[in-house]
Amino acid sequence: MNIALLAHNAEQAQQHLRECHLCEHHCGNDRTNGVRGKCHALDEVRVFRHRVEWGEEPELVPSHLFYTSGCDLRCKFCIAEENAFNPKLGTLLTPEFLKTSIAWGRTQGAKNLQWVGGEPTIHLPGILEVMKEIDDLPDIVWKSDFFSSTAALDLLDGVAKYYVADFKFGNNQCATSVAGVPHYVETVSRNLKHVLERGILIVRHLLLPGHFDCCYRPIVDWIAKQMPEVRFSLRDGYLPKWQAKHHPALHGYITKKDAEMARKLAEAKGLRLV
Ligand code: SF4
Repeated sequence: MNIALLAHNAEQAQQHLRECHLCEHHCGNDRTNGVRGKCHALDEVRVFRHRVEWGEEPELVPSHLFYTSGCDLRCKFCIAEENAFNPKLGTLLTPEFLKTSIAWGRTQGAKNLQWVGGEPTIHLPGILEVMKEIDDLPDIVWKSDFFSSTAALDLLDGVAKYYVADFKFGNNQCATSVAGVPHYVETVSRNLKHVLERGILIVRHLLLPGHFDCCYRPIVDWIAKQMPEVRFSLRDGYLPKWQAKHHPALHGYITKKDAEMARKLAEAKGLRLV
């Protein structure tokens, strides 16, 4: 890790706390002055869980995941439930906390440090600020909904070794009704192209019940056409968490048959499944 670059990017990121454009909501609010934007986050970062996990993509595990609270999306099926949306939950991220946690993660065999959420990009200034205080950082994995601004992604250039990007919806109507965000597809597809040459990119998709033709199929088509060499991680472990029970289309599961059909489509399109 280039500590000088990290320090430079950390300083640059601070401007977003005074006028926030870290994600495509572009709230422009002063987060140092108690003004909350759509993600509700201010200038502190809180970690609601950290643990070493093996369920990630094979080349990443064992991975030490740090889950930050707060998010710029409002997915009705969010598995992290309230933790994802309330940035006041969790332990305050400090250099001491991170240093101690990394040391523990190493004893568990972790080979990288993975930022997840919620959405870590809304906390980029605070995360960079704390990371720059650590001398021997592991490789950084940035797991994101990719609804960020390109300015935020530029601050990760040279910092993140891996990008794990959730491509959740294949059309804007589903993104708006399920996650409450506008112009989703153009934002995520733009961002994927933006980082494609900047690190190791893994595009991840969680199969949602009832969203095969409207979401999964267009995503597979887009990847096959735009970035056929990219690593593609197909996830079939959907659970109807959080508010999914109130939405009949989301209150279901992915069957073995659904998962098999999805895998066959990805293979037929020549995607690089990981
Ligand atoms: S991270 Fe996004 S949602 Fe949060 S304040 Fe900044 S622009 Fe708004």
